[in-house]
Amino acid sequence: MRTRTPESLVRHLHGPGPSPVPQSVLDALALPVVGHLDPEFVAIMDEVSQGLRDLFLTSNRLTFPVSGTGSAGMEATVFNLLEPGDTAVIGVKGVFGGRMAEEARRAGAEVVVVEGEWGRAIPTEQLVQAAHAHGAKVVGIVHAETSTGVRQPVEELRPALGPEPYLLVDTVTGLGGVPVRVDEWGIDACYSGTQKCLSVPPGLAPVTFSARAVEMIGARHTPIRSWYLDTTLLSAYWDDADTSRAYHHTAPISMVYALHEGLRMVLEEGLEATWARHAEAGGHLQAGLVDRGFTLLAPEEHRLPQLTTAFLPDDLDDASTRRRLLDEHRIEVGGGLGPFAGRIWRVGMMGHGATVQSADRLLAAIDQIRG
Ligand code: PLP
Repeated sequence: MRTRTPESLVRHLHGPGPSPVPQSVLDALALPVVGHLDPEFVAIMDEVSQGLRDLFLTSNRLTFPVSGTGSAGMEATVFNLLEPGDTAVIGVKGVFGGRMAEEARRAGAEVVVVEGEWGRAIPTEQLVQAAHAHGAKVVGIVHAETSTGVRQPVEELRPALGPEPYLLVDTVTGLGGVPVRVDEWGIDACYSGTQKCLSVPPGLAPVTFSARAVEMIGARHTPIRSWYLDTTLLSAYWDDADTSRAYHHTAPISMVYALHEGLRMVLEEGLEATWARHAEAGGHLQAGLVDRGFTLLAPEEHRLPQLTTAFLPDDLDDASTRRRLLDEHRIEVGGGLGPFAGRIWRVGMMGHGATVQSADRLLAAIDQIRG
């Protein structure tokens, strides 16, 4: 095996995640490892849970990072909310909605898919009609669809749905980049990932569950299909009001340190300021791409600033240009998925990388490659 130097791994990360990790988060990863029930570590866990509440804008007691990537957050929420006999309405307008529907099927639920056009938000009325027509227990939707760069107006759902269905939201790419207001929007279960707008490496999945979701989960007829992701067991480990701190699994100590530092940075900057920085950097990049002949995929009213999707101009080849960006400029951008493979780029302006300067660096590199 060849030992890599830090220099050989220098990249400007502007793909769909991971995003650039700042030095203070890397320093946190290098802190000494302590026991996972060490009082000092338990204090860090409590601060992380509170930091996540502040970030999700919720007072939900059950708020913690699942040990695993964003997909583990998806599985934890879906498997806890759904069991055989339940009906779930899932909006699908990209890769990640499709995955949520598949998870719900694997949880044993009857799944009604509301299919939307890739590159557009699903009209709220369509989701609501399906939920009412099928008596859905859960309505699931991706807030920030990373395969298309589209923001779903999740804030419209609860008033239109009424109080009954549980609302499940994937905000893996949303959290920290655009507003996410769990309590105000009436969300019952929400999950994210560390490697997007939080600028922490991949490895943890922040989740939050409303009190009524916790109550419903406690009254299920069948066991949760995953022991590892069973929140009735996990809550004893993560709940800061539970003094027993029963052992469930060994938390990934270093990743929790890293998330603690990532949260500290976001909260110190302030949510409004963080969202504004993403809006400015994303807007600047999008204007620059349009100037250079790219065509933006997502419509303006539902366009994410942190993940830009754009069709390439005719004179730019997808694969070779991305390769040159990486080899000659150390810049990573992402290619398209599904029907957009080979036709669009997905460019992240996420977390620490969301600055006008990094957008300018990428635009200048594109100019240089074009000659
Ligand atoms: N949901 C969305 C919207 C995502 O963008 C991703 C990853 O990019 C996931 C879920 C899955 O997260 P992970 O790759 O961290 O497991």
